[in-house]
Order: sequence, then structure tokens, then C-alpha cells
Amino acid sequence: MTALAPEVELLRTETRRLVDRELRPHTLQIERERHIPDALVATLRELGYFGLTIPEKYGGLGVSTLQHLIVQEELARAHSAFNMLISGNNGIGVMGIVLDGTEAQKERWLPRLASGEWIAAFALTEPAAGSDAQAIQTRAERQDGKWLLNGTKHYISRGDVAHLTTVFALTDKAKRAQGGITAFVVEKGTPGFRVARVQDSMGSDVVKQAELVFDDCLVADENVVGEVGKGFATAMRILDLGRLSLAARCLGTMEECVSLAVEHAKNRVQFGKPLAEQQAIQHMLADTATDIAMLRPALYAAAQKRDGGERLSAEAAMLKLFASEALGRAADRTVQIFGGMGFMKDCAVEAIYREARMMRIVEGTSEIQRLLIARSVLSGGGGKSS
Ligand SMILES: Cc1cc2nc3c(=O)[nH]c(=O)nc-3n(C[C@H](O)[C@H](O)[C@H](O)COP(=O)(O)OP(=O)(O)OC[C@H]3O[C@@H](n4cnc5c(N)ncnc54)[C@H](O)[C@@H]3O)c2cc1C
Repeated sequence: MTALAPEVELLRTETRRLVDRELRPHTLQIERERHIPDALVATLRELGYFGLTIPEKYGGLGVSTLQHLIVQEELARAHSAFNMLISGNNGIGVMGIVLDGTEAQKERWLPRLASGEWIAAFALTEPAAGSDAQAIQTRAERQDGKWLLNGTKHYISRGDVAHLTTVFALTDKAKRAQGGITAFVVEKGTPGFRVARVQDSMGSDVVKQAELVFDDCLVADENVVGEVGKGFATAMRILDLGRLSLAARCLGTMEECVSLAVEHAKNRVQFGKPLAEQQAIQHMLADTATDIAMLRPALYAAAQKRDGGERLSAEAAMLKLFASEALGRAADRTVQIFGGMGFMKDCAVEAIYREARMMRIVEGTSEIQRLLIARSVLSGGGGKSS
């Protein structure tokens, strides 16, 4: 792998220092209390982590995709809650505004999101439309020069706390993904919009998922992101970045798996010698290390391509697929290396195992990633672009 630019290395070093000194020591406490201490959230805000990808003009740091992914990788070594906390404001929650928003929308919303004063969410999934996202039923109809939204979204990360949610709704039932879905920004407190419930999950639930209901919710034209009818394309572009970001989280978590497993295997003695001297244990470590070594350069190369202006939907799908499946294997091996301890709540590995399971589902399941990749392969793209 070629050397990374000095500014990329610098951000990694700074983030790693922050993770090791301030965030990682709180991993078990965060898991136990299902809460990130306010002081840590404040630190992340002060250092600009909520506005990494937001252009400097709007108060963000305007970092490259590569830098953003490296931050996600490093944060994942502490607790996935840190990734979840900032990922709306750096990715799926704001990317619609960053990519397709008007100047007025950027000036209105981005500064508060960049500072972390506001939290952002992304609402596409519905009870009857998950993998088949274009089957959404939430509709937006014209009324008195505004848009009247009706429908339900569920599993929306940070939906319970978000000040601003990018919501996708049908504006032309017949056209659906081909010109019939539009993206809207809905602010917290808009009449007709409510958080119906928080949805408990298998995961850590530090950052939660919520069901959102739109019941005659009136939204102005100024809240339409991009062109009317082009929302599905916006959602797919947002998810391209989201999938790279998830792959980076998986990479960081796999690194943490190796780090925890090595420490344990060197210290835990059975049959008169450390576990690390058992070949079966060594093989498990070797397999995870190999997946890490395969994933990292491919992910960084994809990030650099995106920074060069390339669209890489199929590659993003491949990386998300590979990374999430590799993390599933890594987390499973790590629990195995820890034995009974890996099954106990006071061991960080236990939460990693549960969180890892989520990664093969969110932002498109493994089956949907394969479907996207196959579509590219069959159309002659060889999986390299779409
Ligand atoms: C923790 C968490 C956070 C989330 N955060 C958000 C969020 O912030 N915003 C948001 O909009 N959504 C969010 N989601 C929703 C997530 O994107 C969906 O759960 C996911 O896309 C799958 O949809 P589904 O759950 O409806 O499953 P389904 O679509 O019902 O799929 C069920 C199973 O069938 C398989 N399947 C479906 N279609 C096919 C096919 N054509 N071929 C083969 N297999 C198929 C799937 O792969 C899966 O295994 C979140 C989900 C979770 C669990």
C-alpha cells in the first residue's frame, strides 16, 4: 500500500490518541449504561468530529473521504456508539443536503450539524419497504403550495433525538424510483411529525432506532432536497458513502478483535502454556489478520477514487459485503478465543459480537449487496462501476 498523505496520517494519529486516551477506557461503562458520557460528546463536538465531511464554508472540517473513513476505523476500536453518534452528521443524515441541497439549505442547516448542536437522521426504511426501498408508501402530496407528508418510517437510527431528518416520500406513485420519490428535510417539532416509539434491539442501543410517524405533516418547498422526483437517486448516492463508512467501521472493529484476542491469548494459560502457543488459536488470529490486510488497501483505494470524483456503487457494495461478513467471522472467532469470558457482559467482546451481527443488515443486507454487485457484473461493468 502506498504511503498516505501527511494530513491523512495526522488525522489518524490524533484520532487514535483520542480513542486510546479518552474514549476506549469508557467502552464497558458505555455498554453498561447505554449512554455516552456528556463530556465525551462535548469533546467530539469541540474537535469537529460531527462536521468532518461538511465543507469548511459551512463550519465543517471538509475532510476527504479517505480521512473520514480512517476516523470511522479508529473510532470503531473504542465502541460502535461513537461511530453511530457522528455518522448521521457526517454521512446519511446530511449527505443529501451536501450533495444535492441548495445554497440556502446548506447555509440554513449545515453549520448547526457541523458543530454537533443538531443531530441528523436518514429515513428511508418502512414496515413494508426494507430491501425493496422503492416500495415505500409514505407519500407527499401538494396542498396549499406545500407538501403534505403521510406515512411511517421505522428502524431510523438517531430518529428519536434528531433535530433534522432526511425523509424519502412518494410524490408520483406510478413512477416510484424512476422519478416518483422525493427527499425532504423534516425538522423536529414540525406539526404532524412525531417519534412514535424507540425500538429496542439486539445491539448496544446507546444510539437508538426509532419509528417515525408523519400524520398530515406540512413541509415547505424550501425543504425539498434536490429535484422533485429525484430522491431515490439521492438516497442511493448517500448509501454509497454510507456503505464505505460501514466497511471502515467493520475494519476498525476487526482490528480491535485482534488486539483483544492477542492480549488474552498471550495471558490466558491452559494446559501449562498461553493460549497463543496453541496452533488452533494462532490460525484464528491469522484468518482475521488476513481479512484485515485484504480489506484495508481496497477500502482506502475506493476512498481515493471517490475523492477523485468517481462514482463507485458496485465497489461500495463489495466492500460493505466483504467487510461485514469478515467482521462476523472475526467477532465469532474472538468470542471463541475468549471462551466463557467472551460470553460475559463484562467483556468488551460480547458487545462486539452483537454489534457485528447488525453490520450484515444495515444499509442493505448482504443479499442486497450481492444483488447490486451482480447487476453490475451482468451489465458488463465487471463490478467496477455502475
Ligand atoms: C440497527 C439498524 C439501524 C438501521 N438504521 C436505519 C436508518 O437510519 N435509516 C433507514 O432508512 N433504515 C435503517 N435501517 C433499516 C435497514 O436498512 C433495513 O433493516 C435493511 O435494509 C433490511 O430491510 P428489512 O429489515 O425490511 O428486511 P427485509 O427487506 O424484509 O429482508 C429480510 C431478508 O430477506 C432478504 N431479501 C430481501 N429481498 C431479497 C432479494 N431480492 N433477494 C434475496 N434476499 C432478499 C434480505 O436480505 C433479508 O435477509 C436500520 C436497521 C437496523 C437493524
